[in-house]
Amino acid sequence: MIQQTLSIIKPDAVKQRIIGEIIKRLENNKIEIIGMKMLKLTREQAEGFYAVHKGKPFFETLVEFMISGKIVVMVLQGEDVIARYRTIMGATDYRKAAPGTLRAEFATGLTENVVHGSDATETAVQEINYFFKPEELVK
Ligand code: UDP
Ligand code: MG
Repeated sequence: MIQQTLSIIKPDAVKQRIIGEIIKRLENNKIEIIGMKMLKLTREQAEGFYAVHKGKPFFETLVEFMISGKIVVMVLQGEDVIARYRTIMGATDYRKAAPGTLRAEFATGLTENVVHGSDATETAVQEINYFFKPEELVK
């Protein structure tokens, strides 16, 4: 099934200058980019995006991290792209991420883990709508 998902290249990845490396892996895996922009999130935007994690012990650290520098948000499209992009990302905890995944190679902490990817079809729709208007998606 052709799906869409939201990807974020997080501030640690932008600082490591691996925007190109991440996009190269998407293209190598036949994942199409149909929306893309660079943002510096406000605290309100970061808290809203990660509202599902509000109250968890890492929430404040996560928000501080996400507003610590600029990010790249992308809408990805492709066959089974939600799960396939999560596979390319690797496990949330980089110490458990499979070798060769983005997080295994580039994450430097539990919070500083390089990328975000939506985890299900409903969250993908919500997250895409959080950052993109329909007319910003180019198909
Ligand atoms: N995170 C963290 N500490 C944790 C778990 C998660 O700082 O113990 C951060 C990390 O940046 C992660 C984000 O919170 O990517 C969202 O967590 P989630 O469980 O949704 O992981 P993901 O879907 O990004 O793999
Ligand atoms: Mg998640």
